[in-house]
Parts: sequence; C-alpha cells; structure tokens
Amino acid sequence: MKYVILLGDGMADYPLEELNGKTPLEYARTPNMDTIAKEGTLGLIDTIPAGFSPGSDVAIMSVLGYNPEQYYTGRGPLEAANMGVQLGEDDVAFRCNLVTLGGDAQNIMDDFTAGHITSQEAKTIIADINSTMGTDRFQFYPGVSYRHLCVWRNGKALLKTTPPHDITGKEIRDYLPHGEDEEQINSLMKRSQVVLADNPVNKRRIAEGKKPATSIWLWGQGRVPKFVKLTEKYNLRGGMISAVDLLNGIGIYAGLHVIRVEGATGYIDTNYLGKARKALDSLKESDFVFIHVEAPDEMGHEGNIKGKVKAIEDFDEKIVGTILNEIYGLAPFRLLVLSDHPTPISIKTHASSPSPFAILSSDERENLKNGSVFSESSAGNCGVMISPGYILMDKFIKNWRGFIEEKSR
Ligand SMILES: [Zn+2]
Repeated sequence: MKYVILLGDGMADYPLEELNGKTPLEYARTPNMDTIAKEGTLGLIDTIPAGFSPGSDVAIMSVLGYNPEQYYTGRGPLEAANMGVQLGEDDVAFRCNLVTLGGDAQNIMDDFTAGHITSQEAKTIIADINSTMGTDRFQFYPGVSYRHLCVWRNGKALLKTTPPHDITGKEIRDYLPHGEDEEQINSLMKRSQVVLADNPVNKRRIAEGKKPATSIWLWGQGRVPKFVKLTEKYNLRGGMISAVDLLNGIGIYAGLHVIRVEGATGYIDTNYLGKARKALDSLKESDFVFIHVEAPDEMGHEGNIKGKVKAIEDFDEKIVGTILNEIYGLAPFRLLVLSDHPTPISIKTHASSPSPFAILSSDERENLKNGSVFSESSAGNCGVMISPGYILMDKFIKNWRGFIEEKSR
C-alpha cells in the first residue's frame, strides 16, 4: 500500500466579503481536490488540542498521529533536528526570527519576516550575531529566510514567549519573554538591535527600499521531544518534502527521510511541480510520502486574498493534480489532502477551528462519505469530524474503512 499526504498549510479560512461571502478555498478553482472530495471521504479534522496555541508545529504532529499533549515540547527543537543541530537533554532550542521593528522607539512589531529576507542575507546576519553575541551557553544557527535557531545550553524552558506573527502591528512591550531567567533572553533581543543597526546587509536592504532585520525575536522554546518513529510503529519507509525546517524536523523525529527539492522556497514562488515529481519518484522505493506547501499560510499572514487564492490553485493544480494523474499507476494507495489549521485573511494569523480533509482510496469500498467540493462548509456538512485529530493517522494507515463505517452508523 502506498500512502500519500498532501498538506496546504493554513488553507482553511473564513468567508470573506471581498469574495462574495466565500472562503478562499471555496472561491479558488480546485478541480483536483474537489474530485478527491467527491470520490473519496470528506470531513473535518481538529488538529489543535484545547490549551495549545494554533500553529503548524502542533497541527502537523497531530496529522502524523502524535498527540501534542504527550509529545509536544516546543517548536525550536523540532526545527533544530532539520538544521543538524545536536541538542543535549538539558539544552533548550528557541526559534529565532529576524524581524523588523517599527515605531519611533522600535517598539512595534512591523514585520515578523524582516521583509522576507533572503536566506543568503540572513546567513550573513546570523553569523554576525553569533560572532558578537554567541557564547558557550548561547549559539545562533542560520535557517531559511527569516527562520533561525538559538540554542541555550543548560537553559531554562519555563518561559512564556509569543510568536511574532501573532502581534503584527502591536507594541512588543507586553509580549516580551516572561518567566524563568527572562532577563537573559530579553537582553539577547535588546543587544541584537544594537548589533544589527550597523549591519551592511541591512544598509543595503534599506537602500534598495526593502525592510531591514532590526532585531531577533526568540520564541517557541523547548527541549528534545521523544517520538516513537513511524517507521517502527507501522513498519513504513517514507519521506518528507517541505521547504521549512519545522516540517522536516518533525519528519526526522518521526523516522522519515527528508527529500530535498531544488527551488522549494516556503513561499508562492516555490517549485510545486518539482515537489510532486520527487514525491512520485520516492514512492517507487518507499511506502509513504508527505508533501507540505507553506504558501497559502504565508498569504494568510499577509492578508493577501489574491495571493492566497493563487497559492491554493497552484497547490491544487501542480501538487494534487500531478499526484492524482499518476497515483492509480501505483495502486493500492490511500491519498489524504488537507489543511493543517486555518490562517484566516481577516485575522492574519492562525486559528484553532477544524480544517477540511479528504481521503481517496484505490479500494472503492473505502470511499464512503462523499462530499460535493473541497471546502470548509462542504466538509462540515459531511458529518465526519475527527477529534482529537491525532487519531486519524492510525486509521489512515491501518483501518480506514472500518473507521469510516463506524462513523457512518
Ligand atoms: Zn503560519
């Protein structure tokens, strides 16, 4: 059996006046996801347990069958795995964003992506930060675009930190790290602003009319999680395809092989077709592949309606369509397409409400709860609600038909 998961990050949304009361998923042309909804099983999945802040870290763990309440320690250590950064038992890894602070006193979160700074520019900046602020207790490692890592050796994890994408346009004062040894983390953030003020990369960006990286922002900290590998749980061999460290890191802890695709950017210019082709190639030698596309989520954060519709259409045509065209040649298979969490345009950040999913099986008897189209409301009307979301994976791999029959009673 071949298992395929295709995930459009943050695709789910709320109805928008600008789209005549439709959500971006309803408005976008998505013939391939609609086919899966019509011929397969459509429903909603609740990926964010109560008390967790909604994000892809928690949501993707749920999708892969790991109960966040049992396994989640923080985003930082998940990303560290893909960056090849070794963590000891007592080390704490933080996500380290490069951000642009605005306002007269550099007191407003203007852009949590530092103008989508390039990985090359960021590498220079993080190297500068590490050479001026790094010690044997604190180290900085470059990642992709604005997403980097800070490791605190023998550090403290009991801090309340805030994702910078949740406070766009807000004063940062109320959201600074708070808790165990907070002053150490706060002083790193403060010092970075001094270091970055003179950075040549920033000077060049300002001259080019782009946003500079004016500060680091530390959040998402945690210690090493202890996952049971999917390879052991289900005796599967499989791969993860994603541009972002978080997804690849979760894949590594889950025992998946990270499949690198040239031109995968984590943005709307990503190499969609390259990802789909690599996934199909990988299935010749393995049983499981997961493709993650970050673009719809990024468009949601930007509040870019047109961009989000385009990202969804590209995901449908180039990822879902390419896979759907060839998957019958690899039968038997089960194919799951879903959003991990909503990133509504109206709030420009993540929401906790359930997301639509659809499963198509080459075994026709397993396609039991057909929908009309792949959308939030159509999925809601189908009556299949998977909550808590982490139970889906086990059913998807082992007993999909039995589960849906039970749900249909
Ligand atoms: Zn997001």
